[in-house]
Amino acid sequence: MTLDNMIEEIKKAKDIVILTHEMPDGDAIGSSLALYAGLKQLGKDVDVIMPEHSRTFDFLPNCNEIKKEGRTEIYDLAIALDSGDVKRLNGFAKYFEDANTKISIDHHSSNTMFADYNFVNPTAPACAQILVIILEALGVIIDKDIGTCLLTGIITDTGGFKYKGVTAETFEFVAELLNRGVNVSDVYKKVLQTISKTRFELMQIAMNRLEFLEDGKLTFTYITKADEQKVGAESNDHDGIVEMGRDVEGVEVSIFLRETENGYKISLRSNEYVNVSDICLMFGGGGHVRAAGGNINLPFEQAKAKIVEECKKYLR
Ligand code: 5GP
Ligand code: MN
Repeated sequence: MTLDNMIEEIKKAKDIVILTHEMPDGDAIGSSLALYAGLKQLGKDVDVIMPEHSRTFDFLPNCNEIKKEGRTEIYDLAIALDSGDVKRLNGFAKYFEDANTKISIDHHSSNTMFADYNFVNPTAPACAQILVIILEALGVIIDKDIGTCLLTGIITDTGGFKYKGVTAETFEFVAELLNRGVNVSDVYKKVLQTISKTRFELMQIAMNRLEFLEDGKLTFTYITKADEQKVGAESNDHDGIVEMGRDVEGVEVSIFLRETENGYKISLRSNEYVNVSDICLMFGGGGHVRAAGGNINLPFEQAKAKIVEECKKYLR
């Protein structure tokens, strides 16, 4: 598959549905809304579907266009963004499976190549960075609004330009976005610096519970449904908790469990050498080398013991 083939398919399609992973983060939403605006510019009929998303991203241009449900007729084309496997599209995989043509644009090393056209670059620090190339190939003019969405993806997935995947190209793109009027400092403040009160309270609970294991190389913490109810947590208020453990000196792997309908959602982060995507593959998940997730359906103590045991095997 070349970029040209995929661009041809997008140009051919009349109606297009854009899908992304559950609990969409800044890269998922930013990429989706950037592509939405780009395809609208080309005169396409476009739906972007997400069951729910964090209020943090309400400022993004076209955020109010996001739908909770798609249409009943089959779409010409479905594009999955920032999703390593079709399961992650959540209850919305049906729109993807039913579409006449399926495209996946992603940067997860664990991507299962589940579409007809898979444009996957694991070295890209954000899906939004890959989209810059695709939008340009489509002839879309990247204006301030589209640029704001793309920058949101790049800023969130690089932790504010601090992760290793950041290259000179990342800064070149961002410099170009600045030239087009995007307010980098404003986006940074909105998506990385400002946190809601409920999110703060959830972090507080998780921080108080944080344990250091294996001579301080491993950290463990968790959040239950009751905790979320107690603070009145909103969508994605747990974001950032797993990074608290990761950022302590001497820690290699940080584990965060969040209670769900079916057991626990696992979030892992590493600093130097543990490939947490490999660990998460054992738990039906995946992700990146230094940030990954999966699921475990066991009672709390067993879930904790199992994930701690797996992580321990990778420590030096
Ligand atoms: P987080 O810990 O922030 O939920 O996720 C970290 C990274 O792992 C993200 O890039 C995310 O897309 C990926 N990830 C999280 N959960 C899953 C999962 O269940 N399956 C797969 N394939 N990737 C996941
Ligand atoms: Mn991403």
